[in-house]
Amino acid sequence: MAERPARSVLHAGYFDAGLTEIDPELAAALGGELGRLQDQIELIASENLVSRASLEAMGSVIVNKTVEGYPGKRYYGGAEFADAVERLAIERAKSLFGAAHVNVQPHSGSQANLAVFAAFLEPGDRIVSMDLSMGGHLSHGSAVNISGRWMQAHHYGVDPDTGRIDLDAVADLVRRVRPKLVICGGSAYPRAIDFAAFRDVADQVGAVLLADIAHFAGLVVAGLHPDPLPHAHVTTTTTYKNLRGVRGGVILTGDPELGRRIDSAVFPGVQGSVILNAVAAKAVCFGEAARPEFAAWAASVLTNARAMARVLAERGFDVVTGGTDTPIVLVDLRSVGISGRDAQALLEGAGFTVNKNTVPGDTRPPWVASGIRLGSSAGTTRGFGEDEFVWIAERVADVLEAQTERVVDETRQAVSELCARFPIYPGRRF
Ligand SMILES: *Cc1c(COP(=O)(O)O)cnc(C)c1O
Repeated sequence: MAERPARSVLHAGYFDAGLTEIDPELAAALGGELGRLQDQIELIASENLVSRASLEAMGSVIVNKTVEGYPGKRYYGGAEFADAVERLAIERAKSLFGAAHVNVQPHSGSQANLAVFAAFLEPGDRIVSMDLSMGGHLSHGSAVNISGRWMQAHHYGVDPDTGRIDLDAVADLVRRVRPKLVICGGSAYPRAIDFAAFRDVADQVGAVLLADIAHFAGLVVAGLHPDPLPHAHVTTTTTYKNLRGVRGGVILTGDPELGRRIDSAVFPGVQGSVILNAVAAKAVCFGEAARPEFAAWAASVLTNARAMARVLAERGFDVVTGGTDTPIVLVDLRSVGISGRDAQALLEGAGFTVNKNTVPGDTRPPWVASGIRLGSSAGTTRGFGEDEFVWIAERVADVLEAQTERVVDETRQAVSELCARFPIYPGRRF
């Protein structure tokens, strides 16, 4: 065979040149995001900062491999290492949560929940879940989501006086609606969930109980929040919030028979091939969460969230439920006279990234909202302890009280100084 230049159909550097060289425009956007992360205080409760090991797994060459099905039962060949990766993720998650069966393939938390729906429900079936505006989640039967368009969703809220779930009201609703599925867990509910009580309620009508622990899965692992596994038929979580891993979802159950139904609901029910680099990074996440340092981190997340709640309450802010059992602090700003949307913009100017959030009984639409949601997971990963979180809450209060350019600018400067003392991702370009 005649010699010819190798890889002649590829552009120069295809296998060895970096992004900065090949695609400077994209590299600039990614580098901008790194700078943004480094120089602001992340208080969005859905976010965290993954380890370098997670980033390496996420950027590994297994991204090339296509597999469908489960380890040992793939449709495509060449799956030896793909199987090894997925088995590691499964075994680690099983031991981490004490689950008999785990599916690590859901591309996101919403996909995990959709798969649970596909496993147990038919279109038109009734479900009972927390109202989105009271702290539930889009994928729990919200009218604008496929879960709410295809299922008949009935929602419970919280007690208007305490901001807490009223289990008697949930039980009344469930007895009246007789749903096939009951969901507990949400995205803006700061208090611990009583899974045993929810199971009792579900059992009264023979419903399946789904616990969605996306916002406090790390606390569950560390034994700092009640454990859903002994009570819920199925548990779902995202891996990227309080579990501190990359983006994705997981489904857990203590019942191997339900596990088989869930597996076929994920594939071929709602997904095709596996995002193997994400599964590899999930394996890293579960390995990291099994280390003793993770339990210490989780304890600090809780202490820090409680410190923020305490300081804001002392400063006269209306902290929903008066405190928190999770990484979430929900602040009702109606007494301050600023909308959630405006508070978010003001705080962003001061170097704090938060999200506007509806609060129980909110009359503003969700894109304006009357509250903000704060979370302690990402800041704790950065190394902030209670002293820093007390400082953060004091400055957040200053900015929201003053609502002046001068206080915003002074705070921005102080935030940059604090961030410089707690560097993240040193030496990276993006
Ligand atoms: C974040 C979240 C999800 C889903 O997350 P995506 O990964 O964005 O689809 C599901 N349930 C709850 C309670 C959540 O907080």
